[in-house]
Amino acid sequence: MGSQRGSCLCGEIKYQFKSKILNVVNCHCNFCRSHSGAAFSTYAVVLYKSLEITHGKEKLSSFESEEAKKHFCSLCGTPIFNLNKKYPRVCMIYFGTLENTQNIKPMLNVWCESQLAWVESVSSIKSTDQGIEGKNV
Ligand SMILES: [Zn+2]
Ligand SMILES: [Zn+2]
Repeated sequence: MGSQRGSCLCGEIKYQFKSKILNVVNCHCNFCRSHSGAAFSTYAVVLYKSLEITHGKEKLSSFESEEAKKHFCSLCGTPIFNLNKKYPRVCMIYFGTLENTQNIKPMLNVWCESQLAWVESVSSIKSTDQGIEGKNV
């Protein structure tokens, strides 16, 4: 596999890495929920030394909590990757920023003790192919 690329929503931050993806993880911990604003977070884990910010480095902001350091685009707010002191060799890239995700899927769910109860049955929730009409929101 050649290098993999990704970017934020506004396109200011672009990155690439040559490391293979070591793992793809759904994290259900409360901390990741707060950092991402989503029910759970999906990360591609890659060697940190292989991550290269190829555009917009000066627009990359970070916020460090006790648990991890989150890096995000200061223009559009897209979270790009997390660093965790417990795992100094790797970075956790937010899955939604990757360019080609067709052949990549999660291999592991972690922190399931704090997983939201409905996540397990998400496919049984009433679903539509696209958005819904305004009056039904
Ligand atoms: Zn951006
Ligand atoms: Zn987490």
